[in-house]
Amino acid sequence: MLVIFGLSRKEWPLGLVSLVCAVCGHPGPQSLVRRRTRFTLFFVPVLPLRSRLETRCPACGTSRRIARDEARSLGADVSA
Ligand SMILES: [Zn+2]
Repeated sequence: MLVIFGLSRKEWPLGLVSLVCAVCGHPGPQSLVRRRTRFTLFFVPVLPLRSRLETRCPACGTSRRIARDEARSLGADVSA
């Protein structure tokens, strides 16, 4: 019997937040995304594993994980 399993990652854009990049120092708006990872069985997502918020610098492309409270303090709607 052949069982096909794996991980699926999907991102949802949540808007822009104003930050200074910790890597390149670029000040300005960075995109805020919610990234969810799910376990898939036969390419069907069956089990949510992880959900995190990340910002992405438009200048250098670095992604940085941020806490939900930090995202809220920056004015983002992270209720879901
Ligand atoms: Zn940067």
